[in-house]
Amino acid sequence: MSTITYRPPVIVILGHVDHGKTTLLDYIRKTNHATKEIGGITQSIGAYEVDVPIKGYATSKITFIDTPGHEAFSQLRARGAHVADIALLIIDAVDSMMPQTIEAIAHIQSAKIPMIVVINKVDLPGARIEKVKNDLVQHNVMIEGLGGDIPVAAISAQKGTGIEDLLETILIIAEEKKFTFSESNPVQGTIIESRKDRQGHGASVILSDGCLRIGDILYAGSEQVKVKSLISSEGTHLKKVYPSTPFLLFGFNQIPKVGIMITTTIPKKELVNPDTIIESPYRDNNEYVKTLLNQKKENKKLRLILKTTTQGSLDAILNTVGKNETISVILATIGDITKSDIFLAKSTNAIIIGFSVRLEKNIVQLAEQEKVVIKTYDLIYKLLEELTEVSTLLNEKEKKLKQLKGEAKILAQFIIDKERVSGVKIIKGKLNINDTLEIYRNNNLIGKTKIASLKKRAHSVDEVKKNDEAGIIFYPQLDFLIGDMIKSYSI
Ligand code: GDP
Repeated sequence: MSTITYRPPVIVILGHVDHGKTTLLDYIRKTNHATKEIGGITQSIGAYEVDVPIKGYATSKITFIDTPGHEAFSQLRARGAHVADIALLIIDAVDSMMPQTIEAIAHIQSAKIPMIVVINKVDLPGARIEKVKNDLVQHNVMIEGLGGDIPVAAISAQKGTGIEDLLETILIIAEEKKFTFSESNPVQGTIIESRKDRQGHGASVILSDGCLRIGDILYAGSEQVKVKSLISSEGTHLKKVYPSTPFLLFGFNQIPKVGIMITTTIPKKELVNPDTIIESPYRDNNEYVKTLLNQKKENKKLRLILKTTTQGSLDAILNTVGKNETISVILATIGDITKSDIFLAKSTNAIIIGFSVRLEKNIVQLAEQEKVVIKTYDLIYKLLEELTEVSTLLNEKEKKLKQLKGEAKILAQFIIDKERVSGVKIIKGKLNINDTLEIYRNNNLIGKTKIASLKKRAHSVDEVKKNDEAGIIFYPQLDFLIGDMIKSYSI
């Protein structure tokens, strides 16, 4: 039987520039007992672990990701990585909410991880803690004492005031949320940084499950890796590593990509080709439509990230868009489109709408690379007109797509004249020759194909109905199994 063990929580710090992220990270690292004991000789590997001198909780250790800010965080998330367990939202007690604070909130909320609000610089005479709290509620951050349960810590990252309490709050949440792992589970981890040095191609990694040992075989993206060495942030060679403690891993043949997952489980081959997607109503802008159709497929709303130059235009757009029930706004802020907007769009399957904003070349390139759609406008009416049009079109398209025409179950398979034939029974409606089909296994779509040949009792027919049994040849052929379900939709 496998034993479940608590692992330290992994923390990310987000917030507006200059609100004190680096100062807080430095203070915690400097005052940490573990690092002090070994003489403070640690190398930066993208994250560090501290041992909090408070016992009695499920764990006394905490890992901090030491690249603060939401760009790194959102990049990891855009790659599908869920490395952080808890986010600290840091807010300057004098400045209160700023544009990047609002962005950070959107990032944390879309990651669906617990948050702790950290009001910093309380040592300054202009500090107004109550104002910050009220501003947070205005932005739907429901904090403790004002109707919600999000904890708030008031600190001075410079002087160290309130930091012990903050660390204890983290330990309390970690215990409540039960971040656990089992040594006997397959290894799951995320690459948070990568490097090349005299030891070879390496990566900073944080595991979320399992236990990794020297000599283990790992899969990282498309690469298979034999673990050559495991090194702690203090430079010690390790024989094995456990979840949450960051470490360096060597053995890659090339520099691995940040954000990719590593696992000891052999990855399954992708059966569905996501490019075989429904025809687009906007042929000239395929990514746009693909994003939108993907959103609709998941039965979610049309998701937007809005960026404008002024509060006035933002309010005007939100006024109209907010009333449209098919549109959901993930983030609406003032400022140019940034890299983290692109990563947020990617991880939430949203499109970015810019109004009067500048679009830098590197942003356009990144958007292309990440297949994120950016649309910019200079006229508000044009922007609203297009959004309404797209949401109407998609609704119609979806309705059309989702009209089930027939359903059948694969009961047998035969090889006739070297062709693979599936023997099916029609459960619902009817199937016709040339129908486009979707094949499902355990309710998961495994591929799309067409009916190239349809036979009933060895005779070619154009149509089969409920309760009929039929032989079907698919074209393109696909790897079906007995028990798979076939669905046909009328177009
Ligand atoms: P970051 O951009 O969020 O990483 O912010 P920094 O950590 O670089 O801090 C920005 C500025 O605020 C620096 O000059 C810090 O010294 C100062 N600062 C950070 N925390 C405090 C604090 O608690 N009190 C005061 N008075 N200044 C602080």
